[in-house]
Amino acid sequence: MVFDHPEWDDHEQVTYVHDASVGLSAIVALHRVRGGAALGGIRFHRYPDSTAALTDVLRLSRAMTYKWALTRLEWGGGKTVVLGNPARDKTPQLLCALGRAIDELAGRYVCAPDVGTDAEDMEVIRGVTRHVAGLPGADTSVATALGLFHGLRAMANRVLRRDDLEGVTIAVQGAGGVGSRLCAHLVEAGARVWVADIDRERMRTVSEVTGVAPLPPDEVLSADVDLVAPCALGAVLDERSIPRIRAKGVCGAANNQLATPADADRLRERGVVWAPDYVVSAGGIISGARELGRISTEEMQERLAGIYETTLTVLDLADKRGVS
Ligand code: NAD
Repeated sequence: MVFDHPEWDDHEQVTYVHDASVGLSAIVALHRVRGGAALGGIRFHRYPDSTAALTDVLRLSRAMTYKWALTRLEWGGGKTVVLGNPARDKTPQLLCALGRAIDELAGRYVCAPDVGTDAEDMEVIRGVTRHVAGLPGADTSVATALGLFHGLRAMANRVLRRDDLEGVTIAVQGAGGVGSRLCAHLVEAGARVWVADIDRERMRTVSEVTGVAPLPPDEVLSADVDLVAPCALGAVLDERSIPRIRAKGVCGAANNQLATPADADRLRERGVVWAPDYVVSAGGIISGARELGRISTEEMQERLAGIYETTLTVLDLADKRGVS
C-alpha cells in the first residue's frame, strides 16, 4: 500500500496510469505542488517489478522538491516512471497515452525528459498536452553538465583546497547526455578524466570526441582519483561500494545516489565528502525554468554559476554542524 511505503513522504498525489492497448504502465507522483505545479522528468526504465518502480518514483519526486527548494523558484517536485524497455516499448502511441494522462492533471504536473526519454519524446507528448518542457532545442543536460562542473569546482575547493581543476583526476560514471558534456568541460579546464559506461559505443564516442580515457564500469567508483562523478543511475552509493571509494570527494548528477540515508553517514565516517545530488544537478531544472519563461537566459547562466556557492555553503554547513 502506497501510504505505508517506506519512501512515502506525504506525497500530494500518486497516479497509476495503465493502457494495455499501447503497453503503457506508469506512475506519476507529485510530491509537492508549489506555485500551482510540480515539475520533473519522465524516467523510462526496465524495473524488475512495480514495487521497485513505486519506490523510485516516490524517491525521485521528493528529490525534485529539494532541487526546486534550493533554486528558490517556488515550484514543487514531481516525477513519472514508465515500466518498460525504452529501446523496445517506447512508441508514439504509448507516449501519447501517457501525455493524455498528464493532460488530465491540468497543469498540476509538468513533465520533461529523464533517463530513457529525450527531447523528441517530449515533442510527441506535446501533441496531446501543453504541460511539457525539455523540448528539442532545450536539452536540459547541457545546463545540468555546466552546473555540475561548477559543483565539482566547489568540491575541489573543499577537499583539495584549490579553485581550479588543472591536473585534478576525475572519474565520471556514465557517458550519456550529462556525463559526456561534463567530460568536455573538465578536459577544457585541464582535469585528467576517465569515463565508464556500460554502453561501449557511447564510451568510445565520448573518449574519441573529448580525449578522456575509458575505464571498466565496475572500476569507476573505486578508481584511484581525486574526485568521482556519478552520472548514470541512482543508488550507486551503498554498503558495498562506499568502502571501496578512494576519491576524496563524490559529486555527480545522478539523482538519488545514496541507496539509503545511512549511506551519507557511511561516506562521512570514511572521510569522503559527498555533494548532495539535488544541489549539484539543479542545472536541468534551472534551464527548465528558463524554457517555461520564469527566468531569462542571463539569469539562468548566473544561477548555473551560483551552484558553486550553493555547494560550498551546503558543505560548510554540514561541516559546522557535524552532519552528513
Ligand atoms: P542518459 O540516459 O543520457 O545517460 C546515462 C548513461 O549512464 C547511459 O549512457 C548509460 O548507458 C549509462 N549507465 C547506466 N548504468 C551504468 C553503469 N552501471 N555504469 C556506467 N554507466 C552506466 O542520462 P543523463 O541525462 O546523462 O542523466 C544522467 C543522470 O543524471 C541520471 O541519473 C539523471 O536522472 C540525472 N540528471 C539528469 C539531468 C538532465 O538534465 N539530463 C538533470 C538532473 C539529473
